[in-house]
Amino acid sequence: MAEKYTTTDSGAPAPSVEHSLTVGSDGPILLQDHYLIEQMANFNRERIPERQPHAKGGGAFGQFEVTQDVSAYTKARFLQPGAKTEMVARFSTVAGERGSPDTWRDPRGFSLKFYTDDGNFDMVGNNTPVFFVRDPMKFQNFIRSQKRMAANNLRDHNMQWDFWTLSPESAHQVTWLMGDRGIPKTWRHMNGYSSHTYSWINDKDELFWVKYHFKTDQGIDFLTQEDADRLAGEDADYHQRDLYNSIEDGNFPSWTLHVQIMPFEDAKTYRFNPFDLTKVWPHSDYPLHEVGKMTLNRNVVDYHAQIEQAAFEPNNIVPGTGLSPDKMLLARGFSYADAHRARLGVNYKQIPVNEPHTEVRAYSKDGAMRIRNATDPVYTPNSMGGPEVDPKRAAEVHWAADGEMVRTAYALRQDDDDFGQAGTMVRDVLDDAARERLAHNIIGHVSDGVKEPVLSRVFEYWKNVDPELGKKVEEGVRNGG
Ligand code: NDP
Repeated sequence: MAEKYTTTDSGAPAPSVEHSLTVGSDGPILLQDHYLIEQMANFNRERIPERQPHAKGGGAFGQFEVTQDVSAYTKARFLQPGAKTEMVARFSTVAGERGSPDTWRDPRGFSLKFYTDDGNFDMVGNNTPVFFVRDPMKFQNFIRSQKRMAANNLRDHNMQWDFWTLSPESAHQVTWLMGDRGIPKTWRHMNGYSSHTYSWINDKDELFWVKYHFKTDQGIDFLTQEDADRLAGEDADYHQRDLYNSIEDGNFPSWTLHVQIMPFEDAKTYRFNPFDLTKVWPHSDYPLHEVGKMTLNRNVVDYHAQIEQAAFEPNNIVPGTGLSPDKMLLARGFSYADAHRARLGVNYKQIPVNEPHTEVRAYSKDGAMRIRNATDPVYTPNSMGGPEVDPKRAAEVHWAADGEMVRTAYALRQDDDDFGQAGTMVRDVLDDAARERLAHNIIGHVSDGVKEPVLSRVFEYWKNVDPELGKKVEEGVRNGG
């Protein structure tokens, strides 16, 4: 085309962006104005279902570079010394809808996709090292309790505390959420944690349990409840704007990856279940090992195509990495891919942001919105030289399991409880000012609509976390918030 005219979606020069085709200048619009119809039809279909949960978010592209040597623990190629890997990150709130304020108190999603030479590796983490529940059976109800009621379509603190106080395993995460880190200043000022335990496998086929910690190089910073409330009205997209503008300004945020590593055998006898998602591994037992640095240095050019359609899933693991017997993690392996199929279609991995940067030689075929051509032979085994699996992968070590089929909680160990680590955080990690802000935040949150019988349980819950904090919360709420 000689001139760069506006075109229809089929590439033909568009007739007009001012006037629809009518019978005379005042007459009716004609059905054969296919350009008008294309414009309206496209617009009507612009929105796709939002994520349930983690609907509101933003992200950017970047690079991950390994600076240390962890090859004794993993053979993953993208984790070998000096390796550099392209990646994309998405940060999000959990409960809010797509237009909701960035500064509502909520955990933040911290999802990463590494385009490694062995296929995509995803870490679908949060900015907290723990979670509210430890069995996936409870997840759906948990999220419903944090979203909106049926009749009035309003969020409701009574509903939130009802679920939390009837689910005491939530205490550690709720303590974390009500503290300073429950509203990060920006996405750049928060850490990302795998929260789950994963596995690493080295070149001797030895297996290790690992937890990933992406520590912000910008330093941890937070918003007070009052500042966050103000910003929710003034700039609902405060976090998204901050990330985009920082990268536009060449102020590239970075995070240093550390891992905690537990030898395989330790897990069997450790004093609490190391796969319980409501607990951290104390640093004194399993110190952090530095691995490398992730830097976000490129903004997306099409938010919808590159962030709204980005699909992260814990099942995206590569040789040298693996899952663990954490029940929540194993369920997420199914749930995320299923959500992407429902939201984006069965061929969501062919959307460019989700495509591996390595050749895909799969036998899957057809389906809605298939973009990459399938090639013959379309079945295996075949005698036409089609791709064959790497037998080494089937022989890779995992963990062993056997037993009766049951529906029970994890077997209890000596230090397995619901409140211990929450109490440690309150007493040993927070300073006086942070403890004061924690109590202030809880009192404000509970005073906003929590009623009996939930209210009495709230006081018990906090007394179980820390008697002094519980007393302060009860006094504060009873005295009018
Ligand atoms: P440590 O003293 O070694 O670690 C305490 C950690 O708490 C810090 O390293 C920091 O994590 C994190 N922290 C500091 N201030 C806050 C805050 N206001 N809100 C939330 N987290 C904060 O002790 P332990 O490893 O024995 O852990 C003690 C408690 O610390 C745990 O029960 C848990 O509540 C909390 N914690 C522990 C983490 C772990 O992986 N061991 C991670 C995060 C919290 P970071 O360095 O990651 O910023």
